[in-house]
Amino acid sequence: MSICNSRHRHDPTFETLPLDQGGAGRHRCCGCAYERGYDLGLQREELLNIDIESLPESQAGTVRHRSPHAAFAMGYQDGIAASYMS
Ligand SMILES: [Zn+2]
Repeated sequence: MSICNSRHRHDPTFETLPLDQGGAGRHRCCGCAYERGYDLGLQREELLNIDIESLPESQAGTVRHRSPHAAFAMGYQDGIAASYMS
């Protein structure tokens, strides 16, 4: 099991995400989930798979106990928006 040490763990953006204390994704890094969604959004990928189990874990920062599902969705939307600006 990998542990995320990226700086995005302390991004205040993720404080707006819903808390996920008991769900399947509660120890997964929301920053990594966001980036995965963003990349798929940028490509306007139509078949999405969050694949929660493959995300690194995180125990620190603003991403702790936040919903990786919501983070992925936010990243996907931001990626889509970015795809129209290039
Ligand atoms: Zn991460």
